[in-house]
Amino acid sequence: TTAGALTPEALERLRSRMRGPVFLPGEPGYDAARAVYNAMIDKHPALVLQCKDVADVVAGVTTARETGLDLAVRGGGHSGAGLGTCEGGIVLDLSPMNGIRVDPAGARAVVEGGARWGEVDHATHAFGLACPSGIVSTTGVGGLALGGGIGYLTRRHGLTVDNLLAADVVLADGRLVTADAEHHPDLFWALRGGGGNFGVVTAFTFRLHPVDTVVGGPMLWPVERAAELLRWYRDFLPTAPEDLNGFFAFHIVPPVPPFPEELHRQRVCGVVWCWTGPAEEADAALAPARALGPALDGVQPMPFPALQTAFDALLPPGDQWYWRADFIGEIPDEAVELHARHGATLPTVQSTMHLYPVDGAAHRPGRTDTAFSYRDATWAMVIAAVDHDPARAEELRDWSGRYWQAIHPHSLGGAYVNMMMVEGQDRVRAGYRENYDRLLEVKRRYDPGNLFHVNQNIR
Ligand code: FAD
Repeated sequence: TTAGALTPEALERLRSRMRGPVFLPGEPGYDAARAVYNAMIDKHPALVLQCKDVADVVAGVTTARETGLDLAVRGGGHSGAGLGTCEGGIVLDLSPMNGIRVDPAGARAVVEGGARWGEVDHATHAFGLACPSGIVSTTGVGGLALGGGIGYLTRRHGLTVDNLLAADVVLADGRLVTADAEHHPDLFWALRGGGGNFGVVTAFTFRLHPVDTVVGGPMLWPVERAAELLRWYRDFLPTAPEDLNGFFAFHIVPPVPPFPEELHRQRVCGVVWCWTGPAEEADAALAPARALGPALDGVQPMPFPALQTAFDALLPPGDQWYWRADFIGEIPDEAVELHARHGATLPTVQSTMHLYPVDGAAHRPGRTDTAFSYRDATWAMVIAAVDHDPARAEELRDWSGRYWQAIHPHSLGGAYVNMMMVEGQDRVRAGYRENYDRLLEVKRRYDPGNLFHVNQNIR
């Protein structure tokens, strides 16, 4: 709730300090400016500030501090919980800050805080390089990178946070600092998993890797074979070479190309693969999966950005989203049966259950080396219920809630903070385990007044 107030004088002062546009309720552009990806979240901020540069960010942070209004920071706006906006407060929308500078010789990129991953992929692919990110290119760099970052390159090159070299951060008091291994090392530790709790990251420096053409895409089987497939997958994946990534999925095949018509609206399970090793070795790596006779085999060589954007069109902004998540260590037979049962009941075509591998290179750092703690997890699970129709919101919540309740006893106890709704403080603690107390210390040092609280909040 909001205690503060924005006087006409404060607003005037703010406008005079901003290079980017400021949107107030009732003004043209306000409704577009307040919208976030998940249409289940419908909030009316007092102000939306579209920041063009660091000075705009400082102006926004200062105004929030001085007025006492709630402050929400928005990168790509993809938070399922809607943490890129707030009711009656200030939204700092970083989306105009999407510049990217690639240093091909040094294999690094400096990425502004409001960029999206598709923009990063475009900039780095020109040099045959990539930064580990997620599986959908419209997702924001800011939120994904600060929470962990799990995607096609995780097993080979680690989480996004494992490839963060430095961050420029506007702190609660309006100062700009650069955090890296040598400077503000505690802040740097906290940024690698601790989300937006510590400040506004205006630029990220990432390490890049030679990833150019990959062999990737989905293999699908009828959902009736789910138990058999999941048992095979849970045994196979952890022993597969790190160059092979594959997330397990339940889906209803969308009735659109390139899916063959006979599969349209069929319930399936499958694995979406990404092989980053030598192209001539891909067939051998994938042979065990092919031996199981997939009903559809869409795996083929493609530029890495093509795989990164493959599902974008199926996941437009403006749908209702409700997701629940947990980290998973092992999948005992009992859990396989539960998945098979619930996975066969997806309520809508866009709904899913995914198991994203977080082993391989992501297991090399220890549990306390970064704020991201689940180095012992083999998968990050997300149960996502999605549909365009707001009338189905309740049904979506019920379905993912029931699936999650059933499977939660087989989890490691906490979830990836980037795939949580607003679920209460116990769930935030469970997301960080023994790292929570150190996060609290860093929070006390850098944001003692909890100005940055519209997030999975360390308090
Ligand atoms: P926003 O809603 O803008 O922000 C989310 C949180 O991060 C907020 O608390 C915000 O304050 C904070 N934040 C954002 N930018 C900054 C910044 N520059 N400085 C300080 N704080 C900031 N995650 C994965 O790891 N892998 C995936 O493959 C993946 N796929 C996804 C696919 C879809 C379709 C969606 C909707 C989400 C996916 N996610 C994935 C989850 C994703 O990581 C989170 O939704 C994340 O919060 C998105 O970041 P954002 O910047 O777009 O979100």
